[in-house]
Amino acid sequence: MTDKLYQRDPYLREATARIVGSEDRDGHWAVRLERTIFCPEGGGQPADTGTINGLPLLALESDGDDVVHVLAGDPGGGEARLQLEFARRFDHMQQHTAQHLLSQVLVRLFAAPTLSFAIGPEHSSIEIGRPAFSEEEIRALEAECARLAFAALPVRVFATADLSSLRLRKPPKVQGRIRVVEIEGFDQSACGGTHVKNSAEIGLLKIMRAERVRANVRLYYAAGYRALRDHQLKHDLSQRLQRLVTQPLPEIPAHVEALLRERDELRRGLQKSRQREMEREAAAAAAEPGGLVVRELNDADPADLRFFAGAVMAAGKNALIFRRTPPAHVVIGRGRGDIDLRVISARLFALLNGRGGGSASLLEGRGGDFSRIAEVAERLRAELGV
Ligand SMILES: [Zn+2]
Repeated sequence: MTDKLYQRDPYLREATARIVGSEDRDGHWAVRLERTIFCPEGGGQPADTGTINGLPLLALESDGDDVVHVLAGDPGGGEARLQLEFARRFDHMQQHTAQHLLSQVLVRLFAAPTLSFAIGPEHSSIEIGRPAFSEEEIRALEAECARLAFAALPVRVFATADLSSLRLRKPPKVQGRIRVVEIEGFDQSACGGTHVKNSAEIGLLKIMRAERVRANVRLYYAAGYRALRDHQLKHDLSQRLQRLVTQPLPEIPAHVEALLRERDELRRGLQKSRQREMEREAAAAAAEPGGLVVRELNDADPADLRFFAGAVMAAGKNALIFRRTPPAHVVIGRGRGDIDLRVISARLFALLNGRGGGSASLLEGRGGDFSRIAEVAERLRAELGV
């Protein structure tokens, strides 16, 4: 059985420990120690990281009451030097203790049970047996968690087999003597993870997002340094937005909405004037001699090409309108005669090393190579008899 120092003192960053077993597993070493400061994954809390004799810890496995430390190399024998990556561990302690607090507040305010818990690299989350939370309820939840953190309640850890003396939030998963984590006077929970020693160390607990999962809600939250980093990120964003739009923060949403409306109106106006211009150009082109109008419009998008071809066709002429700059596009329209363009579609697009299709009177598609565009025009003139 490995003596789990992290259960007695989760703040222990380094220690020495006697190596009691070491086996080569296809180039990795599985190492057992007399005692350890490394907490394996469990109960929603990810595994610790760190080094043993300078070798990085690749994984931690629970084997009954033993912890197996997986290393990339042979740590040697005798006494080993253990070093914990404490910033990561302390983050786990903050997120985990925050979960205990949050789960009990959810029971007291909403009689809502916690169904599962996980600490992810970005956000921690708990699944709650309740279908929804209003914004006001989330605010109340955050305020109550803040009040309890600022009340600086001691967090105590003890072991007992006498369940009758306890008021556990939910029944323990293990039999016999259990390890209890208590936020003094507020919450008792059977748990094997690592926790801070005072609720003040949780710092701020912010609900980031509520997501519907089946009939339940998953609440994503950030506690401690994660909440600070989130605040820094959002503060930075709001400062940048304020500098961009030179408006006080509360005015920014309405200001951005007005900007977007204005942009949409300008776009519509621009589109209209482009179309009027294209109508003029198409009318002038259709007035030229010959039955086929060939035009290269490299700054027009596919919708513009279609619009131009449509205007030419409306004037009773045939159209070969294209742009060769990416995204290269071709529109072929029949404004007179009754030949079915689909019959010649494959041949025309083969000349352009492209692909396309359409209706009897309008073809459209991509072009890959426009060096034979004159040949396409000749074919069209021949087929359309113009
Ligand atoms: Zn816990």
